[in-house]
Amino acid sequence: MRFPLPLTAKIAAYVIGHKLRGTKKFATVLQLEPLHTCNLTCTGCGRIREYSTSLKDMMSLEDCLGAGNECNAPMVSICGGEPLIYPHIEALVEGLLAQKRIVYICTNAMFMRKKMREWLASQIAGRSEFVDQKIDELMKAGLLSEKDAAEIRKGPKDASKPAIAPSKWMYWNVHLDGVERIHDLIVEREGVFKECILAIKMAKILGYQVATNTTIYKETDMQEVEQMFDYLSDLGVDGHTISPGYEYDAAKKDMIKRLNLRPEDFFLTRSMTIRKFRKVEEWMNRYTFFGTPVYFEFLAGKRDLTCSAWAIPTRNIRGWKGPCYLMTDGHYSSYAELLEKTEWDRYGVVNGVARDGRCENCMVHCGYEPTASLGLQAQHGDTWKTIKFNFGPKPKPTGRGSETIVFNGISSGNGHITGKSAQANGTAARAS
Ligand code: SF4
Ligand code: SF4
Repeated sequence: MRFPLPLTAKIAAYVIGHKLRGTKKFATVLQLEPLHTCNLTCTGCGRIREYSTSLKDMMSLEDCLGAGNECNAPMVSICGGEPLIYPHIEALVEGLLAQKRIVYICTNAMFMRKKMREWLASQIAGRSEFVDQKIDELMKAGLLSEKDAAEIRKGPKDASKPAIAPSKWMYWNVHLDGVERIHDLIVEREGVFKECILAIKMAKILGYQVATNTTIYKETDMQEVEQMFDYLSDLGVDGHTISPGYEYDAAKKDMIKRLNLRPEDFFLTRSMTIRKFRKVEEWMNRYTFFGTPVYFEFLAGKRDLTCSAWAIPTRNIRGWKGPCYLMTDGHYSSYAELLEKTEWDRYGVVNGVARDGRCENCMVHCGYEPTASLGLQAQHGDTWKTIKFNFGPKPKPTGRGSETIVFNGISSGNGHITGKSAQANGTAARAS
């Protein structure tokens, strides 16, 4: 099966329950932003710009867990900001898993290895042999230093604090916008791609599930993205999401002001998205993409969909953000209020006409995937197509992954912030 059966069954049961009860609008994924602080300043990230005056604020653990219960989405994507900076991240993951939700930690991976070392340390008292064996494996793979190993063997600093353990209900969701040269350019820091790969390798050795999320921009070379998926599938990554980047307000303003770049040179229009995603249907059969064939047909320009942003709500320090993850016309005190007060008919693109000018170039996952997955504009054959996709065999590693290709040159210094163009240096930089 493409996805683990318990996860697929849980989501299917939830959706069918709502359909049987006739619920018109309900949440499938909660985008939970406990804080907006981040250790990076990626080009195109609206979050750290839109909430720049409240970067030090954070949601309480109670509010975070309350948001899960309130909208009751079966999946929670903990994002931000960088969620691993949130001081209660371990308790939050533990609490959401206790609520029986599927949890994704959307991270830039810079602190992932630290969190996994902390988990190993928490295991030393009960499973010292297992920990020793894993330390050995990790050291051989160049993923752990002698100093780190010694720290792990000392055990946890605070034994009462939970750690983020491998679970079939939890995924690390690593932000990767391409191979080394382009990723480091976009995240505006050299070495980030390398750290992502080290963290993914460590996670797979320790038995975690790992997904990746990729945003495609105008400068993204799709052949490189394909090479990245080959490489990631050979590393044993469990799934990928892929979405087009488009010029929403917060990111656009920053680009003009801080980087002196023209948004139209960076973000995709609708027609560019369709051109970039023309191979996506081929890819969805070759790689383990999270999504539905119907959404991929939409991205490839083969059918039209309207926006259902209400199904993937965002909760952050200011409340429930509407209408969607990207655009902000208000923050509401509850999910029910967001549903009630947002004029949903004012948004999206219908029959090629944008109801709101800001939606014109948007084809993003968080707006359109629910329309596909909930069958809101179903055509003949869609149900069977989706069942076949979800219950079909998981794509096998392609065997075409190559470190020489993905480590294709550092280059970017601080990426776009330097104003320099990335140049491949032609030298393979090994991850370990
Ligand atoms: S890592 Fe995520 S939150 Fe941080 S700047 Fe980049 S896109 Fe924004
Ligand atoms: S189309 Fe939907 S998801 Fe996209 S910007 Fe508009 S409201 Fe948001």
